[in-house]
Amino acid sequence: MSYCPSCRSTLKSEQKFCHVCGVAIMEMPLMEATGIYGSRLQLFEKKIRISREGWLGSFAHGLKGDKDILISQLSSIQFKRTGLFTNGYVQFVFQGSHESKGGLFDATKDENSIMFTKKQEPDFFSIKEEITRRMETTQGRDSSNLDELEKLDALRRRGIITDAEFEAKKKQLLGL
Ligand SMILES: [Zn+2]
Repeated sequence: MSYCPSCRSTLKSEQKFCHVCGVAIMEMPLMEATGIYGSRLQLFEKKIRISREGWLGSFAHGLKGDKDILISQLSSIQFKRTGLFTNGYVQFVFQGSHESKGGLFDATKDENSIMFTKKQEPDFFSIKEEITRRMETTQGRDSSNLDELEKLDALRRRGIITDAEFEAKKKQLLGL
C-alpha cells in the first residue's frame, strides 16, 4: 500500500496522479541500469522502461523518448556479454516486436535493445536476472488462473454456479 506524498490518501500502484489532490506521483523504479549513450533500463512492478536521453542517445538510435514494455508481454531476453573489444547488449523480445530476420543483428539500431560496456555489464546482468524471475512468476500465475477459470466454467455449465458468479470470478482472475 502506498500513500500520496502530499495529501496521504491511498494510491493504486500504477497511478500517475493523485485522484484526491492531483499531485504527480513519481514512479520509482525497483532497479535500474545505465548503458552507453545515456540509455537506461528500468524495472518497475509490472513493466520495464527503455529510455534514451540526450542528443547522442537519440542520434545513435534515430529514436527518442521512453518505451514501456509489460513484463507479462515479454517472451524472451537475449543477453550478449561484452567481449574484449565489443560492447554487450540486452534485447527484449515480446509479442509484436520485430525480431531480426536473419543476417547480422544490429543492437545499435534496435529499439528494444540497450548496449553496455564491460563496466556497466554487472548492473545489466542483475536487472536481467530479476526480469527473468518476474517473467516466470507472471507467466506461471497466468496459466494457473487459466486452469482455475476452466474449472469454474465447468461448474457454470453444470449449473453449480450462476453466470453472474462466473463473470465476477473471471474479472477477478484476469484482473479486469
Ligand atoms: Zn494527494
